[in-house]
Amino acid sequence: MASQEQEGINPRLLINGELVEASDGKTFPIYSPATRKLSALVPEASADDTNAAVAAAKAAFPAWSALDPTKRGACMKKLAGLIRQHNSELAQLEAISMGIPVSNFHYAHTCAFYFDNYAEAWPHIQGQSSVNTPGHVTMTLRQPYGVVALIIPWNAGVHFFGSKAAPALITGNTVVVKSSEKAPLAVARIAELAIEAGFPPGVINILSGHGVPSGQILSRHMDVRCLSFTGSFRTGQLIQEEAARTNLKKVILELGGKSPAIVFDDANLEKAVEQTQKSVQSNSGQVCMANTRIYVQRGVAERFVSAFTKRFAAVKDGDPLAKETNHGPQADEVQYRNVMRYIEQGKASGKLAVGGVGKLESKNGFFIEPTVFLDTPETANIMKEEVFGPVVNINTFDTEDEVIAKANDTEFGLYAAVYTRNINRAMRVAKALESGYVGINCTSPLTGRDLPFGGYKGSGQGREGLLYSMDNFLETKSLIIQIDDE
Ligand code: NAD
Repeated sequence: MASQEQEGINPRLLINGELVEASDGKTFPIYSPATRKLSALVPEASADDTNAAVAAAKAAFPAWSALDPTKRGACMKKLAGLIRQHNSELAQLEAISMGIPVSNFHYAHTCAFYFDNYAEAWPHIQGQSSVNTPGHVTMTLRQPYGVVALIIPWNAGVHFFGSKAAPALITGNTVVVKSSEKAPLAVARIAELAIEAGFPPGVINILSGHGVPSGQILSRHMDVRCLSFTGSFRTGQLIQEEAARTNLKKVILELGGKSPAIVFDDANLEKAVEQTQKSVQSNSGQVCMANTRIYVQRGVAERFVSAFTKRFAAVKDGDPLAKETNHGPQADEVQYRNVMRYIEQGKASGKLAVGGVGKLESKNGFFIEPTVFLDTPETANIMKEEVFGPVVNINTFDTEDEVIAKANDTEFGLYAAVYTRNINRAMRVAKALESGYVGINCTSPLTGRDLPFGGYKGSGQGREGLLYSMDNFLETKSLIIQIDDE
């Protein structure tokens, strides 16, 4: 049944410069998680569509990689401008698919920022040379892989489209992007903008659909030489397995987290409360680096918890299309039920301080009250697994050694934060934390724009970032040249 929201939304696949339906006509529905009304029917890319997208990218590669990089950059700049221009429309499409409030949506701007920046980054594509081998000159060439697959999640699809596609394209690769089945609408709109931006057919291909078949086929495709993935630990494992079984394609993995924030008793408590609360409430807790475990030193624990729970309970949930809403629903029913299951486990293992209520019945949408648990044993499931909802565990600690051990007792290692006014302690703890990112007196989602981002341990492999992502999409070839004495 069509709803009002569906009018004018016509997502299609982008294959070889054409916007098309799925070859077998299959679609899947996207419902607004706030209202459960149908937002759109979306093409489910078939095996044939996926193979066609890879074939188109392969055919487009020789000309695209040989093109003057300023011309590659010109298409990218044009796309950046179009994405920025369509910010409100993209915000609305995300709101009616995965529920992010339009007031929180800044991803069109970050996406455009990536396209603008990488459009001008081509002078940094450089090899090196030496005369250290007597009688020879040696050098390296940095060259694109060819067809690169980019598989992105739903929690910030537009952002990841930019952070992955832009560096892959400027380095001369052609791409097949697979959007998430939970949030395909905004990325499908970007497919239309990519045509308007003038990319030659086959350079950017965009598929919508579930992990199987399209994601799985990309992971095992012999013509895909490099695959960059952001998503869950489990899917990362599956992709890595497929790659290992087939052509050992290069795989970059940005996975989940169970990020700790540590608050010592000399910290600026007000700032620590405000920032750690924002971290775990932003995007309704559906952020890989959200500080979902907070450790507070015993002397300030009571004050911290009281201020934190007050702020956490004061969010304004509601229609994500309304400007005043700052807390949207969970992305869909699967996410909702998953988070509610963890909340029930949390009630059994720890002490519920605030929230714990799902509002499916009362609001007819997948809203969950921000939830705080106290004094949960470190061994409990909820302390180990990624919940991906507005749920946080706050525990107390006494000593530095104790809290470092607790913070590191996880298979994840994406982002950690430490709040203290003691610089020596801050640096000791930062060094000891097993984490790809550490915030000192600040926390996620804050990142330095030119720093590498990525995980220790099960949070991933490889790094992304303005100075790092191009490297992910470039092979290195060594040349040795003999100089004859004449
Ligand atoms: P997910 O792993 O379920 O899905 C991610 C993408 O993989 C989707 O496009 C999905 O269709 C595809 N996929 C699913 N099964 C596949 C398969 N068998 N083969 C190939 N592709 C397949 O993750 P999600 O639920 O979309 O996203 C949430 C997860 O992403 C969380 O774990 C979160 O922490 C993580 N994440 C990590 C970062 C980071 O930078 N480290 C950023 C955002 C999100």
